[in-house]
Amino acid sequence: MKRLHNFSAGPAVLPLPVLQKAEKELVNYQGKGASIIEMSHRGPEYTEINETAAKRLKRITGADDDWEILFLQGGASTQFMMVPQNFLSSDQTADYIDTGSWSSKAIKEAKFFGNVHVPFSSKESNYSFVPTDDQLQPSDNAVYTHFTSNNTIFGTQFRKEPATNGSLLVCDASSDFLSRPIDLDKYGLIYAGAQKNLGPSGVTVVMIRKSFLENQVTDEMPTMLNYRTHIQKLFNTPPVFAVYMVNYVLEWIEEKGGLTYFEKYNEQKGGILYDEIDKDDFYRGTVDKASRSLMNVTFRLQSEDLEKRFLAEAAEHNLSALKGHRSVGGIRASIYNACELDSVKALVSFMQQFRSKNG
Ligand SMILES: *Cc1c(COP(=O)(O)O)cnc(C)c1O
Repeated sequence: MKRLHNFSAGPAVLPLPVLQKAEKELVNYQGKGASIIEMSHRGPEYTEINETAAKRLKRITGADDDWEILFLQGGASTQFMMVPQNFLSSDQTADYIDTGSWSSKAIKEAKFFGNVHVPFSSKESNYSFVPTDDQLQPSDNAVYTHFTSNNTIFGTQFRKEPATNGSLLVCDASSDFLSRPIDLDKYGLIYAGAQKNLGPSGVTVVMIRKSFLENQVTDEMPTMLNYRTHIQKLFNTPPVFAVYMVNYVLEWIEEKGGLTYFEKYNEQKGGILYDEIDKDDFYRGTVDKASRSLMNVTFRLQSEDLEKRFLAEAAEHNLSALKGHRSVGGIRASIYNACELDSVKALVSFMQQFRSKNG
């Protein structure tokens, strides 16, 4: 069996042992005579999966009982709307740091509900950096501060949480959730679509702090959009298969050594790739060095023609999904938790060959 060196930005590569476990259990889940996706979500099998996944996520992140874990549908894009629906009223202001396309989509949704203040935007520079604390101009009275911890398209990432004027953070962590330890004390809510770093598409993990939930502006809203609905009980059919897969990915994360393990592993992978890019002018990183992402590594070559050839020859070397997002162009290597060091080494070695042939 030949597996690709898969650098897809999302849905992205999953850990092979997790896929194999799911393959083995697909037709007959733990001897029950049916697949997990053919059983009631109220039955003991799925109930255990859901509870185990939530417990594992709490252990991995160090979340205490002040935190609720939800497995919702609608993608991170639904959270763009659900967060302000619950926590921003028309006479309030929320701060939204604008570091890329996903941030600006979140801003657009929040404006339907209340006032949005943008303490910083790197739009003018085609989102080539994330702010330092002294570049931020927060409002005095923000009810929360929203930021995108990793900018999947542009290849930038916050090294640490942005400063606020005392408000808690709300974070779209879709493309770097569980890639490194997280200082939960600074957060009120964290959401992440699973398909980048956590599992298949179809589930969005939401971590919400109970004391933050006290700030909910109203209970008068459609049932499915109210976080309390999902905290009180499993309200409707969850994305069973996606949660089942996320549960196994969480198991794999714990077995590997948790977030400190992945922080080191991701630094190692990003390190060798950026070293190769920085060797000379043949490859050019597209973002400021201090803002570089360890999840999505973006770079360009001297011409679009050369980039086309790079992508075509890379594919012949089993290196797949390296084409940059259309708004940046060039090359993007997404190297999430499940992308193995061997794949990054194969890419680096190809980059060296390609440079010596064309440099
Ligand atoms: C992919 C992505 C999204 C969109 O997620 P959906 O689940 O497709 O709605 C939002 N934010 C970030 C940072 C992403 O990488």
